[in-house]
Amino acid sequence: MDDARKAATRARGCVEAISPYVPGKPADEVAREYGVDDVLKLASNENPLGASPRAVEAVSEGLRDLHVYPDGSGYRLKQAIAAHYGARPGQITLGNGSNDVLELVARAYLEPGSNAVFSEHAFAVYALATQAAGAEAKVVPARPADDPHMPFGADLDAMAAAVDDHTRVLFLANPNNPTGTWVEAAELRALLDAVPPQVVVVLDEAYTEYVEDPAFPDGIELLAHYPNLVVTRTFSKIFGLAALRVGFALSDPAIASLLDRVRHPFNVNSLALRAAEAALTDAAFVETSRAVNRAGLVQWLEAADEHGWQTIPSRANFITVFTPFAAGRVFEALLREGVIVRPLGGTEAHGGLSQALRITIGTAEQNRRAIEALARVLERLSREDHSA
Ligand SMILES: *Cc1c(COP(=O)(O)O)cnc(C)c1O
Repeated sequence: MDDARKAATRARGCVEAISPYVPGKPADEVAREYGVDDVLKLASNENPLGASPRAVEAVSEGLRDLHVYPDGSGYRLKQAIAAHYGARPGQITLGNGSNDVLELVARAYLEPGSNAVFSEHAFAVYALATQAAGAEAKVVPARPADDPHMPFGADLDAMAAAVDDHTRVLFLANPNNPTGTWVEAAELRALLDAVPPQVVVVLDEAYTEYVEDPAFPDGIELLAHYPNLVVTRTFSKIFGLAALRVGFALSDPAIASLLDRVRHPFNVNSLALRAAEAALTDAAFVETSRAVNRAGLVQWLEAADEHGWQTIPSRANFITVFTPFAAGRVFEALLREGVIVRPLGGTEAHGGLSQALRITIGTAEQNRRAIEALARVLERLSREDHSA
């Protein structure tokens, strides 16, 4: 590299230190590389039913207005979200995916010298957003693998204890990705009570629509009690709109107004705005998606039982399965079968999960195919190891 180019490759130290997010492998790439025609992607927790037909219709109507800037305030979608969730429009921050909202929080509150607290095995974006802001990531060890209450789950007491004078943000996903673990209402309230008011608590509820337990905590209900709480939701998962990138936060209006200052003026595109608004009206689609997921979770748990695979209890639309082999090796072998899953091993961030695969719950037929492929692959790998 010549000197002039080298000079431009020196960035802020905190940026150079970031290890980039590794997205799930795209299906067409696997099809090309492995010569498989019908690739099954169960790697990114997408909705196996697609999107609501109402959302698809709204997008096709929106195609007429591609030359017009989106409504930068998201007026209609905010009205719809407010009505749907019993909130006020002033509490809402729209994002280009909830990912965007997580970054807005980091941009608004984190700076060098401050820190963000989150759990080991937490969603990868918390570390990325924290580091990009030049702040310190305080990663709190998760509960151990043999924890009787919630193996690999967040240890909320330890997280509260990790908060110090420099902490401005605490991130917690409920249920969590990639483990599927969750926290109960009482422990969540205890955390919120323990955290000082200058710490913004981001409760990431990307998967909450999949949870059927009526006692499961609802962040939106907690907003009235905790002015430092930011609840994030997404249209990418149960609403099936991952491609469009739209999510939102609900918070105290004062926080929403701060997040608005660091937002790109047109951060949510008009097709996404329309589709999200339409998706909110399709309760039947959400209910069917939930039911398919419920049945799929049972199907996976029964298969795990039958084959002797350990799993982490999950209430989300994916399940974490342990195998006797390094996750990367099983992942590769499954790719050859045309099945894409998410290997959790291999990164320092996921100690104890080096032999774990995160598998998105699909339709009954997709689950059957993935279960059969996994059983076949594990048998083959164990034969290979025995003959070696
Ligand atoms: C998928 C996911 C999101 C949502 O991301 P989008 O940017 O809205 O697509 C947020 N948090 C967690 C924990 C997730 O798994």
